[in-house]
Amino acid sequence: MDSSYFIENIKLLNKERIKDFLMLRGKNQEELILTARDLRNKSKFQNKAELRSVIELSNICSQSCRYCSMGKNRNDIYFLSKDEILNRMKILANLGRRTFLLQSGESHNRHFIDDISFCCEEILKLYPDIKIILCLGNLSKEEYKQLKDSGASRYILKFETANGSHHKYCRPSDSIENRIKCIENLIEIGFQTGSGNIVGLPGQTLDNLYEDLVLINKLDLAMVSATKFISNEYSEFKNYSDGDIDLTLNFLAILRILKPDCLIPSTSSLETNSSNGQLRGLLAGCNTVTIHDGTPKELEKKYTIYSEKRYMPEEEFCINIIKQAGMEPVKYLI
Ligand code: SF4
Repeated sequence: MDSSYFIENIKLLNKERIKDFLMLRGKNQEELILTARDLRNKSKFQNKAELRSVIELSNICSQSCRYCSMGKNRNDIYFLSKDEILNRMKILANLGRRTFLLQSGESHNRHFIDDISFCCEEILKLYPDIKIILCLGNLSKEEYKQLKDSGASRYILKFETANGSHHKYCRPSDSIENRIKCIENLIEIGFQTGSGNIVGLPGQTLDNLYEDLVLINKLDLAMVSATKFISNEYSEFKNYSDGDIDLTLNFLAILRILKPDCLIPSTSSLETNSSNGQLRGLLAGCNTVTIHDGTPKELEKKYTIYSEKRYMPEEEFCINIIKQAGMEPVKYLI
């Protein structure tokens, strides 16, 4: 199979071919991945990789996704005060970091949104070149606007699975319609918006993965992503196996071919239980990596979005895999 065959069928969203591509292994899989990598290297960001730093603000969450256990143990909940958030941002800024991902479970507490807005404004007064990415779940359009006005420029809201009934099965407290409405609000407000799915969710079919690609293609996104399902030992999906690394890498390669100029993260889910997974993500066309040293050490284990066994890469690891992938680490790409 040659690159033009992959590119043509993926651009046309040819369902049967894409389902075949997702299952490729061996030599044909290598060709798919090489096609994606070449396209990334020829795209506007070339071989540069954005290095982000994450701060996990709170594990309190009003959703109840069946693959996650965040905030379920009421004795173990936490949230960072505005002083703590600002302090963590200053520490990272002094280390030379310039892209911050502020991530949290979904909270509709007015003070929480006000605190985050305050921190964005204050840190940007001190370091105007910082890029702030928020990942705070479904909020009202007014709340999104308030956060945008405070200086945050990007927002990530993954839809996780596009099929309506599969979405309800995995995320019973939400609906795909509501999730898409929130993503559209973010785009309308002017956020550089990110979204994507989880590969390997229980009950997911190849047709579902195809539907995910169709939805990604429809939305005007600056960042797209696919994480590998990790079985969280405290979640309702604890008895299911982790997602397949090769299926996830093929999905990422197809994403890159579909969206040559988008940011695509090689996430720590790829490394969890699969050594070299994040390096393989970069080789399959990804171009961002997140350093996990922004959350206070004593709270890291309480942010149980991917289970306690999740891999939390530090700076040295991230820089090493970027270099091994023949890429150049940069402070931000957009
Ligand atoms: S996956 Fe996110 S939205 Fe769902 S329960 Fe966990 S923290 Fe909340």
